[in-house]
Amino acid sequence: MYALSIENLTKTYSNGFVALKGIDLDVEEGDFFALLGANGAGKSTTIGIVSSLINKTSGSVSIFGHDIVKNNKQAKMNLGIVPQEINFNQYETVENILLIYAGYFGIARKEAKIRAKKALKQMHLWEKRDTVSRRLSGGMKRRVMIARALIPKPKLLILDEPTAGVDIEIRRSMWEMMEQVNKEGTAIILTTHYLEEAENLCRNIAIIHEGMIVENSDMATLLSYINVNYFILDLEKTLITPPEIAGYKFDLIEDKVLSVAIPKSNSLNQLFEQLSIHNIQIKSLKNKSNRLEQLFMDIVQ
Ligand code: ADP
Repeated sequence: MYALSIENLTKTYSNGFVALKGIDLDVEEGDFFALLGANGAGKSTTIGIVSSLINKTSGSVSIFGHDIVKNNKQAKMNLGIVPQEINFNQYETVENILLIYAGYFGIARKEAKIRAKKALKQMHLWEKRDTVSRRLSGGMKRRVMIARALIPKPKLLILDEPTAGVDIEIRRSMWEMMEQVNKEGTAIILTTHYLEEAENLCRNIAIIHEGMIVENSDMATLLSYINVNYFILDLEKTLITPPEIAGYKFDLIEDKVLSVAIPKSNSLNQLFEQLSIHNIQIKSLKNKSNRLEQLFMDIVQ
C-alpha cells in the first residue's frame, strides 16, 4: 500500500487558471520523498488538495488506501502537515501548543504529555518547553511546527519548505531531526528550495513544472543522468565577460568567480590548459556541491 497515491489529479481555479494538469504520484510507506518545482509550479496546490484545504477538479487522492473524499476522516488520521507559515498561538508556551493540539485529537492529557516530551526532545526543544513561543528564533518556531505535527503520530508527514530562511548550521541539524523521524517509520514528503537538501535526504523525487510531473524517479538514478561536473573557479584577475571555449559552458558569477560545466570525459588539466591559452589564471577551484540544482534548471528549461 502507498502512503500517498495521486491519480490524474487536475485543478482549475475559479478564474479558469489550470494549475494542475493531470498529476500521477505514488509515495511508498516509509519513504523520504522530494517534491520539487519552481515558484508557481503547483506544489502548494497539490499539498493543499492532499490536506483537504483545496478542492480538486478531477482525479483521486488516497492516503494509506483511504480516499480523501469518500473516507476523509480515515485519510486524514495518518497525515501530518507542516505548512510554511507559522500558525500557532505565539503567546502560548511551547509545550502548551503541543498539548492543546493533542486535545483536538482527543488524546488524553497523560498520553499527550508523554508524546509532547518525545516530540520536543526529537526536535531539540525540550529545554524550551516553558518558553513563550514568540520568543523563539525562526528555526525553533519551525521545529515547534514539526513537533506539533508529530503529536498524532502520523505515518505520512508533509513538510512545506521546513528550512526556508534558516541558516545553514540549523538547517543541517534539522536534516538530522527529519532523518530520525523518517527512520522511526514516518514517510516524509518534502518541498524545498534547497536542492542540496533534497539530494542529501530524499530517496525518491518528483519534479513538477507548470502543473505536470516532468520527472519522477529515485534520486540515485536522477543524479546518474548528470554527465557533467560543475566547478567554481576563483580567478587571479577580473573578467568582464565569461570566456568562450569550445566544449565548456562558463558563467561569470562575480567579476573574479567563474562557474564551469565540464563533461565527465574531459580532464581538469585540459581545462587549465585552455584557460591558460586564454590568459586566465586560477587561484582556487572547488566542486559545486549543488548538482541537483543544475539538473533541475536543465529539466525545467
Ligand atoms: P507552488 O506552490 O509550486 O509555488 P502553487 O500551487 O501555489 O505553486 O500555484 C500554482 C499556480 O496556480 C500558480 O500559477 C498560481 O498563481 C496559481 N494559483 C494558486 N492559487 C490560485 C488561486 N486561488 N486562484 C488562481 N490561481 C491560483
